[in-house]
Amino acid sequence: MNNAELKSRRDAATPRGVGVMCDFYAARAENAELWDIEGRRFIDFAAGIAVCNTGHRHPKIVAAIRDQLDRFTHTAYQIVPYASYVELAEKINQRAPGDYPKKTAFFTTGAEAVENAIKIARAATGRAGVIAFTGGFHGRTLMGMALTGKVAPYKTGFGPFPPDVFHAPFPNPLHGVSTADSLKYIDHLFKADIDPKRVAAIIFEPVQGEGGFYQAPVEFVRGLRTLCDAHGILLIADEVQTGFARTGKLFAMHHYDVAPDLMTMAKSLAGGMPLSGVVGRADVMDAAAPGGLGGTYAGNPLALAAAHAVLDIIDEEQLCERATVLGDRVKAKLVALQREIPQIAEVRGPGAMVAVEFCNADGCGPDAGFATRVQARALERGLLLLVCGLYSNVVRLLFPLTIPDAVFDEAIAILEAAINESVAVAA
Ligand code: PMP
Repeated sequence: MNNAELKSRRDAATPRGVGVMCDFYAARAENAELWDIEGRRFIDFAAGIAVCNTGHRHPKIVAAIRDQLDRFTHTAYQIVPYASYVELAEKINQRAPGDYPKKTAFFTTGAEAVENAIKIARAATGRAGVIAFTGGFHGRTLMGMALTGKVAPYKTGFGPFPPDVFHAPFPNPLHGVSTADSLKYIDHLFKADIDPKRVAAIIFEPVQGEGGFYQAPVEFVRGLRTLCDAHGILLIADEVQTGFARTGKLFAMHHYDVAPDLMTMAKSLAGGMPLSGVVGRADVMDAAAPGGLGGTYAGNPLALAAAHAVLDIIDEEQLCERATVLGDRVKAKLVALQREIPQIAEVRGPGAMVAVEFCNADGCGPDAGFATRVQARALERGLLLLVCGLYSNVVRLLFPLTIPDAVFDEAIAILEAAINESVAVAA
């Protein structure tokens, strides 16, 4: 079987709505490298969309899953519980930001974590409203879509969405939105659209992921905390993409001096196994009545075993520090390139959550074509990159933090070449 054959079978057997970026099929993967079924090698700067911060098949994760596989794979935690769930909740409670008693519940996907955070916030406050942000991404379920602040392709054709969800602009100085603009808009929502006493939660990403790797300014996060405290609103940080050492801290909220009331996590939590969670204030987390939270697969034993290994690996291999070192290294290269290439509008991102945004050379607006060309040129040379951003003009780097130096340097050289080649086409 080859890639072309599988592509035509895919087209016949699966719907186009499940959009697929690559036209080759995975055969195996190891740390930061991936091979297709025709034996071609790629360096993986997508990491399964921010899932493999600890690399593909880390030996400790494989061993932990194997060990669990030999004991049991599923009992449904809500029917017959197991210690690994309780123990992981204890570890997350201890490590999540916020100096207050916490509780954690586990689910399967990021969208499910978001759904449950909203359910918990509504149960705890007795209110319905939720405020989210332009450019935010919170998943593909109905509430996830309602909260997501980008229409195409996520929401097109799928409405109506749950009511009482409002969007405010996320601060984005590059595109003319200041922290003051954003906070003022929320105040405006309170006057024009919803009584703050009817708002259960404000949900935001400390660094917008799909939206373009824009980091929430410190003043903005403090401002949200103040607004929430003034009106009895719960602050939810969606750390599905930012968590588990990506930004140079275990959670991105550790970069701020205020804490959320609830926080969602998924993706790199279990290094490639499906697991998500909601951690938050113990009293808030207890608002939902018994039976109100959960799911058949929620807190799968194999995924929990992997998550325990992930936390150990982050500590043992000092992946927060490594994220900062590698992130700084690639940012320095890209900033140097920016001096010669006017289409590079911005290089940004905390730790290893690095992005490069492309705009037209005359500074007049986003250049999605440039980002797509960089992605395509890099892929031709064997480097997998993802594009993101409200205007799809941002290339994001999500390399495994366990990547060996030599492979990292090889990838950065490909990235530089891909950017340079894209300038030549633009000229
Ligand atoms: N929230 C954020 C911030 C995300 O980045 C994502 C996925 N990209 C989700 C929620 C949804 O996660 P999942 O795809 O696992 O449902």
